[in-house]
Parts: sequence; structure tokens; C-alpha cells
Amino acid sequence: MTEKFMSMKNLKFTLHSRKGKYSSKTPGFLKDHTPKTIDMILKAAFDLGKKVMHPMFEEMDRFPPVLENGRVHVHEGVRPMLETLGKDGWISAGLPEKWGGEDMPASLMHCIYFIFAAANYSASTFSGLTMGAANLILSFGTKELQDVYLPPMLAGKWQGTMALTEPEAGSSLGDLSCEAMPVEKEQYKICGEKIFISAGDHDGVDNIIHLMLARITGAPEGVKGISLFLVPKFRPESRGSLVENDVTVTQVFHKLGYKGAPITGLRMGENDNCIGYLVGEENKGLAYMFQMMNGARLEVGMGATGIATTAYHSSLEYCRTRHQGRKIAEPKNSEQVAIIQHPDVKRMLLFQRAVSEGALALILQCGMYEDIFTTDPSQTDCHLLLELLTPIAKTYPSEMGILSTSTAIQCFGGYGYCDDFPVEQHFRDMRVHTIHEGTTGIQAMDLLGRKVVAQNGRALMLLKEEILQTAGEARHSAGLDDMADQLVSYVALLEQVTMKIAAMGKNKGMDAYLANATLYLEMFGIIVIAWQWLSMAHAAATKLEQGVPKKTDQLFYEGKIHVATYFYSHELVRVNSISMTLGCETMVTLAIPEACFTD
Ligand SMILES: Cc1cc2nc3c(=O)[nH]c(=O)nc-3n(C[C@H](O)[C@H](O)[C@H](O)COP(=O)(O)OP(=O)(O)OC[C@H]3O[C@@H](n4cnc5c(N)ncnc54)[C@H](O)[C@@H]3O)c2cc1C
Repeated sequence: MTEKFMSMKNLKFTLHSRKGKYSSKTPGFLKDHTPKTIDMILKAAFDLGKKVMHPMFEEMDRFPPVLENGRVHVHEGVRPMLETLGKDGWISAGLPEKWGGEDMPASLMHCIYFIFAAANYSASTFSGLTMGAANLILSFGTKELQDVYLPPMLAGKWQGTMALTEPEAGSSLGDLSCEAMPVEKEQYKICGEKIFISAGDHDGVDNIIHLMLARITGAPEGVKGISLFLVPKFRPESRGSLVENDVTVTQVFHKLGYKGAPITGLRMGENDNCIGYLVGEENKGLAYMFQMMNGARLEVGMGATGIATTAYHSSLEYCRTRHQGRKIAEPKNSEQVAIIQHPDVKRMLLFQRAVSEGALALILQCGMYEDIFTTDPSQTDCHLLLELLTPIAKTYPSEMGILSTSTAIQCFGGYGYCDDFPVEQHFRDMRVHTIHEGTTGIQAMDLLGRKVVAQNGRALMLLKEEILQTAGEARHSAGLDDMADQLVSYVALLEQVTMKIAAMGKNKGMDAYLANATLYLEMFGIIVIAWQWLSMAHAAATKLEQGVPKKTDQLFYEGKIHVATYFYSHELVRVNSISMTLGCETMVTLAIPEACFTD
């Protein structure tokens, strides 16, 4: 197991090199945090990741949660970890002071989550879920619900969950059937089944608080009839006693990776005694839940980024120490060289950096838009940009992270395929990210079907302005003109392709419009990451132009420019072939009848 699971230097560089119209003009980004306070926060998060989460990374995978007598047992380190996260204020960090929080900017919260996910992805998810659930209670719950539930959740003693999925309602949440029957004011009897609920039960906490979607008896069909409920495993009664609430764990799922976190099936109301408390107004549950899901989608992207990052560091360490073969020009009897000297191995390392560092930059760009909008709600353009980029920030790291962690395995050769090294676990842990919080297909339809067309394409226009500004600024640095030109031409290509798809949609209908949405998302994602790489290359070139006394810093900035060059020569060009497919009038995915999928 590598000690170096992430680079603090790279994280700080990425956080501090945000560019574009909004980074300089608008107050609010990073609030009143100085580089010094940021350093302190990140260092404390790193220490926690290194000392508490990282040491149990392998064990949590080897000894996954088990269901025994209706209770899910997790790794013994989970309870003390959650207590520390609660006691030291990490769970409440993003909340207002009233709740013991620090109103921490989203950008910093993303950095913290990145560190935790890189240290141990499974371990990082417990508190992330509680934070999301606490935010929902704070935004939409009554004062009474807030007073009872938030303190123990924020202290890490109670676990929060997000309970949406049902056996017959996964991607299609409008079809969920879990029922809520009114009992008395704001109290309902809940009856139904949920599956795949992360941290849905475990013995690392004293209570589980489900933020659950259900349909009030007689509510309209579809998404318009879904309400949000708080459903505890144990109901707090008067004088602090806890009463069991008829939530049964039906199973704990056995997964490919991400094994340290329990994913459970739940049955509510088996004995007609499961009480849920309405959160917010009736039938607005899905809209409320989307608040949590949008944040959670960025978190999934950051989780994937964290895993890809630690896999890169593992493979880098190996490539520096593994000696195999000789340089082609060297004599046959010369010493074997470290494999990092082979161009093809450098390619594999470049690819991993291009993906993980590019993804980190994109999510921090989203964090910046989020912070500006939260501080000044009149900055609606930042909100639009955040909305447009969220499906990409979720999907690019997740889809490319699979390839990136697979490449990490390749760097190790045979050892990569065995459990002697952690990269096989990173590969397995990564795989879920394209599935949970909405699959890639669903993100793609969100991008093309909703975000791109919203307000007559205003978000796309704003993004174009941001990208062109970065390209214009980058031209001031010697050697970046070519990348800037390429980026500008690929943005023009994206516009052309978008118009072509819109025209096909007009002529042939919505099915045709969305048939290749996933490919469109892929193309969009590559261009957006190219934008981030040009921005980073420009920041690095500026530092070099200013003069960098330390050799290690000089190599760091030069390395950034090399990775940007790699991205443009090896990754961005893939957009050409994708655009050809997207421009194709004959759509095989629409044309082929289901019956042609013969055995
Ligand atoms: C490890 C793990 C943790 C999870 N944690 C949680 C959790 O905490 N809370 C929670 O509520 N859920 C959770 N989930 C559930 C997760 O969100 C769902 O698995 C996911 O939304 C997909 O739903 P599904 O599994 O029913 O797949 P399906 O909806 O059956 O999808 C199967 C395939 O069909 C595609 N598809 C479906 N509908 C369409 C369509 N209309 N157009 C095109 N393609 C389509 C999908 O993209 C996918 O490729 C978790 C899942 C996993 C694996």
C-alpha cells in the first residue's frame, strides 16, 4: 500500500489556479479564507485521511460488512472514525455556525472530500451521506426535526442515508411505489421496500436516519406525487429513549468493489409500525432530493477522482522502482532500466495524470461557481454553469477513471492483476461510479435533454465565453498558442454538432435527439477537460515566467505543461471521431429492432 495517496502540492495548485471571468471579479469565492487557513484545513484533513482512513483501506475490502441477526456489522474502525469526524467538526463544516459548522465554502469541502476519498473511498462515504441528509433536514425540515436529529448526526453518532431506489424504480424514480399513509399531522405510516441503500444499516453508529422518498396515499402518479420523509431506524421518544421503528434490513449486497461500505435492502412497515415524518411540503420530495443529488453527483465525481489519483501514485511508485528491459538504443548487456524510462510507460502515467488532475480541476471549477452563487444569489449565470457542468463532473471522472485505474494495473504488469498491490482494489472500487447517483446514460440525457436547452442554450453560451476567455489569456504565455487555437476550434465543433443534433431532433423526434446523448456527453467532457488543462498549463507557465527558484517546483510546473500537451495530442483529438458519429444521419441504435438481438 502506497503511503502517498495524493499530492497536496497539486491540490493546492489546482485550487488556487481557478481562472475565468468569475474567479477574479466576484467576491465570495473561498470567502474570507487565506492561503494560510486553507493550508491548515487541508493539512488537518490529510492527517485524518492518513492516520485514520488509509490504514484500514485494505482491511475494509477484505472483511466486508455482514448481516447477522438483523444488524449489519462493519469494520471496527468505522465507529471511532465517525466519532472523530463528528467531534472535530468535519461533518458539520459546511453548515452555519449555529449548528457547530464553519460555513465552509463548497470548494474547500470538495478538497476535503477528495483527500478522504483518495485515502479510503469506502470510509469516506459514511460521513458524506450524513452531511447530505443533514443538509436536506436543514433546508426543508421543521425546527423540531432539526433540533432532534441534527445534533447526533453532526456528532457522527447517527448515520444519514438517501433512500430512493426500489426494486422496480431505479433510473425511473417516478415509478416508485413506497407508500406513506397519513396518521396525524406530519406523521405517516411508511410501507414498502428499498434496495441499494448506502450505509442503510450498520453498527458503527447508534441510529440510522433515512431521507426517504415515498408516495402519500392518493398522490398523483409519476414524479409529481413523490414526497420526502425522514424515517429513523429508532424513533426518539420523550425523555431521550429510542423505540424501534419497523425498518428491517432484508440483505446486505455483495459488491464488486467499494466493499467497506454496507449497501442494504430495507423493508418498511412489515409490522405496520414504521413512522416517517414529512420533510417540507407534500409532493415536492423529488425536487428537494435533487438538491442532495446534485451535491452528491459532484461528490461521486470527486470520489472517482480520489481513487484515480491514489491509483496513479501507486503506479508511479512502482514504475520508478521496477527494472525491466533496456532502452532501445542501449547495448544488450547494459543494466536493466526502471520501467518509467520507457515511453510507453510514460504514456500510461501521462494518461492517468491527464484524467485525475483534469477531473480535479473541473470539480473545483464547479465548486467555485457554487460558492459564488451561494454567496451572491444574483449571480445566476454561475448557477447555470454549475448545472450544465454537473453531469460532466460526475461522468468524466467516473467513466475515464475506469480506464485510468485499469491503466494503473497495466503499469504493474502481472502484479497489478493480483492483490499483492492495491491497484486491483482501486479498479474495483472505481466501477460503481458510473452507476450510482444516476447512470451515465441518465446523466447524458440530463445534459442534452435539459441543461443544454435550458434558457435557449444560455448555459452553453456562458461556457463558451469562459472557455474563450481562458484561451485568450493562455495566448500570453509562450508555447500555448497552438493549444489555445485547438480549443477554440473544438468549441466551434461542439456548437456545430449541438445544432446538428437539434436539427435531427426537430425532424425525427425526441428519440433521435437523445439517441446518442452518451456520446455527446463524452465529447463535451473531453472539451471541458481540455479547457481545464489549458487553464492549468497557463497557470504553470505564468509561474515559470515569474521565475521559480526551487528545482522541484520548476519540474512540477514543467510537468503540468507536458501533461496538458499530452491531453491535446492524445485525448482531445478523439473528439473528431466522436463528432463524426454524432453527425451521422443513420442511427443504428434506433434502426435495429430488438428482435435482431438474436442468440
Ligand atoms: C453500490 C451502490 C450504492 C448505491 N447507493 C444508493 C443509495 O444510497 N441510495 C439510493 O437510493 N440508491 C443507491 N444506489 C442505486 C443506484 O442509484 C441505482 O442502481 C441507479 O440509479 C440505477 O438504477 P438501477 O440499478 O435500477 O438500474 P436501471 O435503472 O435498471 O438501469 C439499467 C441500465 O439501463 C439504462 N437505462 C435505464 N433507463 C433508461 C432510459 N430511460 N434511457 C436509457 N437508458 C436507460 C441505465 O443507464 C443502465 O445502464 C446504489 C447503487 C449501487 C450499485
